[in-house]
Amino acid sequence: MSASVDSPSSVEPVETRSHDWIMAEAERLKAQGETEPRLARDAVSQPIINAWLEAMEETDPRFADGVAPPAMAQVWTMPGLRGSRGASDPLSGAMAMLDAAGYTSVLGTNCDQVYERYLRVGEQVSVTTRLDSVVGPKQTGVGEGYFVTTRNVWRVGDEEVASMLFRVLKFKPRARVSTGATDGGGPDRSQIIRPVVNRDTEFFWEGTRHGELRLQRCNACGELRHPPGPVCPVCHAMDRGHVVASGRGRIFSFLVHHAPKMPGRELPVTIALVDLEEGVRFVADVRGNPEDLAVGDPVVVGWDKVDDELTLPIWEVAR
Ligand code: ZN
Repeated sequence: MSASVDSPSSVEPVETRSHDWIMAEAERLKAQGETEPRLARDAVSQPIINAWLEAMEETDPRFADGVAPPAMAQVWTMPGLRGSRGASDPLSGAMAMLDAAGYTSVLGTNCDQVYERYLRVGEQVSVTTRLDSVVGPKQTGVGEGYFVTTRNVWRVGDEEVASMLFRVLKFKPRARVSTGATDGGGPDRSQIIRPVVNRDTEFFWEGTRHGELRLQRCNACGELRHPPGPVCPVCHAMDRGHVVASGRGRIFSFLVHHAPKMPGRELPVTIALVDLEEGVRFVADVRGNPEDLAVGDPVVVGWDKVDDELTLPIWEVAR
């Protein structure tokens, strides 16, 4: 066994990379502390702010005049398509370590940002990163994995302007990826990919279990929105409730999915984007033969109970 463990690629074969090895590597990466500041490629600029505002459909006039939206913090120090975060980047290091141990898939889980002040056009931002924690192994819906949390700090000179805790799940994908045909010939529905249920979405999945199509509503301005999220896109309030939709709408667009295979599902699957009566668009599968389907068809929501925990909405053509 090698005594000089400099990088995950220089050590023992996968089968000997135990939990203890992962934890030791994590401690080594944590002990490296904060990286050297990496300077943004370009200074904060109005053209990039404008492009971002358009992409986000953000129209707040205060950002048209040299003030950057705080949520752009990460934008300024992105390494670019062919850039690198640097050899010492602890997130890359933790990813490589877990790849080496067989935890090859990644899923973003959550991200908390703190803004100290607005950035202005012309300021040059730098970023540092350190590994905050590696926690696991945890059994999750997608497989066994480790939660990796890093902390980024953005500064102008020595002044901290924003920071972020960023957590990903690095997991070992489940071995079985076939559609899992059972003896009866149909797909094994216990393998259906399950939706992410979190603070923003649990009301929705509770609704489907009760046969209710729930739409998030902003308690401040009344705007309806789907998919659910923490902030109202119109008034930016975080106070949120929901209404129960009528479940009726019309097909705005649809596609027929033939490949690749989907765990627990029989192909083809028809998926439609539906304009609900309430003015919100909603995506779900459609029951029945896609040959019979046309844009503009009226549909009504039905329920596809997978098990006691999960019921999926499914469109049925209203004849
Ligand atoms: Zn609102």
